Amino acid sequence: MKDKKLRIIPLGGLGEVGKNMMAYEYDERILIVDTGLMFPENDMLGIDYIIPDFSYLLDKKDKVDGIIITHGHEDHTGAIHHVLQEINAPIYATPLTRGLVEVKLGRNGLASRAVLNTVHAGDSVQIGPFKVEFFHVCHSIPDGVGLGINTPLGLIVHSGDYKFDHTPVDGWPSDYAKLADFSARGVLALLSDSTNSERPGWTPSEKVIDAAFRKVFREAKDRIIIVSFASLISRMQQAANVANEFGRKLAFAGTSMVDNAKMATKLGYLDIPEGVQVPIEQALNMPGKDVVIMCTGSQGEPSSILGRLSMGTNRQFDIKAGDTIVLSSHPIPGNEESIYRMINRLFEQGANVIYEAIANVHVSGHASQEEMKLLLHLVRPKYFIPIHGELRQLKQHALLAKEIGIDENNILVTENGQIIEITENGMKLAEKVPAGYVYVDGSGVGDVSEDIMREREILSRDGIVLINVNVDRFTGEVLGDPEIVSRGFISPRENNELYAGLRKKVIETIKRIGSKDRGEIEQVSRTYLNSETRRRPVVMVTIGRS
Ligand SMILES: [Zn+2]
Ligand SMILES: [Zn+2]
Repeated sequence: MKDKKLRIIPLGGLGEVGKNMMAYEYDERILIVDTGLMFPENDMLGIDYIIPDFSYLLDKKDKVDGIIITHGHEDHTGAIHHVLQEINAPIYATPLTRGLVEVKLGRNGLASRAVLNTVHAGDSVQIGPFKVEFFHVCHSIPDGVGLGINTPLGLIVHSGDYKFDHTPVDGWPSDYAKLADFSARGVLALLSDSTNSERPGWTPSEKVIDAAFRKVFREAKDRIIIVSFASLISRMQQAANVANEFGRKLAFAGTSMVDNAKMATKLGYLDIPEGVQVPIEQALNMPGKDVVIMCTGSQGEPSSILGRLSMGTNRQFDIKAGDTIVLSSHPIPGNEESIYRMINRLFEQGANVIYEAIANVHVSGHASQEEMKLLLHLVRPKYFIPIHGELRQLKQHALLAKEIGIDENNILVTENGQIIEITENGMKLAEKVPAGYVYVDGSGVGDVSEDIMREREILSRDGIVLINVNVDRFTGEVLGDPEIVSRGFISPRENNELYAGLRKKVIETIKRIGSKDRGEIEQVSRTYLNSETRRRPVVMVTIGRS
């Protein structure tokens, strides 16, 4: 057994928030845990989302024994159809997570091809060389699990997203007994969620939202619109309960929310009191004071319902003065700007907007520092590897582990693509593998390179200038004046002089070097425009020959 080793391959979620994906490899057999996506930042123009680079797995497709999805959030499920297109391994998930994955696979035409296995918290399943014990954890979605992964080298505990909520919406607390049992058996390594490692204390229970919702319902005179993620099933439950208390009808708007609510109800994870739910069409015809609408768009996404409402481009209904809009979610880092712009637009239209910064209408689903310490104490791992978080969050988590007495030499902070090897002799870093961004946009997966992203950024910032020059095909002399068109840059009408100067530059350059080297003409033009305006538009030159 001396030369046996466990390889831990972080493909996403380390050094960033989102696109969580981990591979465990033993004796050339592989177990994947989570296949998430990440939402693009503001400056990633035209990008729908980002998925992990899992090219490491592509020549080992037949070695993958299974894919476990720990819970139904997009940052854990969102890349599943992309992964499945390449790697046809069986998926393991709890009923609700499986339901959410099925909705996603169905939308991408993969429902029939996927092999899905339902597991329950408390189950033990052999997947290749790994015996995996699923244990229940609280989070902001029901049916989340952490994993005890038994390997020939020892037990690995992978927390998934978790918090220790004593009064969760579904009444099902985290499985402390299982964690204590792991500890009694001895834990080789703990890999756990670092999202809130900078937050002291405990994350408040989901219960506090009920009180905040009640206050909103007491004070709202007209329609209430609650906005959250389509996968936040427990928030739907809370909205339904409070709607029932206050005698309002609840309607879901938007396909993802309607589909997820239907599926969660069917599986018993959403229990809307009799007679409370109505179709959106019906809700829109009722007096505003009798209605609550739930929809997506809490991140300011322009294509979401709230995004469209804020711009007055939603087809089914509009914002009305007197509407109360509750953003029940936390801004994903990088989205703050677009969210606050959207909130301003909603206020402009006469709505009252209530959001996390001004009321407890959202609590985090992730453990804060005291909960992290509790998990470390409960599990008492030999090695500790913080996961899920930006580098600073991983570092903070590592400090906490050190504080509670984990040997500093046994704590490893690392980032995506850095393989970790555990043998009987210890834990060390092995080779690095690709683990960057794979951009997905309307046209496909990975078609968008860093170069294209840079071009889009320049275009969006400084615009484009097109120069069309006609030259005599025999003498090479410029015929007439170069034609210039601009978009997103100072227009020729605004600044005649600038363009007269540009025409002169182009003619001079062609006199000097001819018209063959378009790149050089573009370069000279760009330098001229930059020196005159301090902006750097994209410049394109076309040459006509007659
Ligand atoms: Zn989550
Ligand atoms: Zn997550």
